[in-house]
Amino acid sequence: MYHRKQKNMSNCCSNQNIQNKRHKKTSVCPKDGKECQLVEYSTLLFQVKKPWKFIDNRQQYYFCSDTGCDVVYFTDDGQIISINEIRNPVGHKLKGDDAIACYCFNINYQDIKKSDYKLIDFIKTQTLNKICACVSHNPSGKCCLGEIKLRLRTF
Ligand SMILES: [Zn+2]
Repeated sequence: MYHRKQKNMSNCCSNQNIQNKRHKKTSVCPKDGKECQLVEYSTLLFQVKKPWKFIDNRQQYYFCSDTGCDVVYFTDDGQIISINEIRNPVGHKLKGDDAIACYCFNINYQDIKKSDYKLIDFIKTQTLNKICACVSHNPSGKCCLGEIKLRLRTF
């Protein structure tokens, strides 16, 4: 019987390689020089006051989390979206304990400290049950929990 050798299907991932190149994951904030992470296009649409005026879907936007910088989003082309163009106060940019910590459940750092850090478990439980909306509620588009832990360690 004639036996045909199966062709190797190694080209199945080539699309992904092109995508990775196009989506540069980090860029440097034009104002403070900090390395910043790429944000999802949908996050911008949910965060910016008048997204139809600002957002160009051919661009990639990055989020600056630096407290001392009023740039929230920027592109490599020099477009800047600052704090006053965002719908709600950006907790990342505020030093005090009244800064929002968990955007999904409206918890600030004062609430966490008052609860003797038990609210962190509350957030964790919701996240484990997949009840959170970080992509739309958190201006970074990232999970609030990781950012809270980081901030509590550094402040
Ligand atoms: Zn910045």
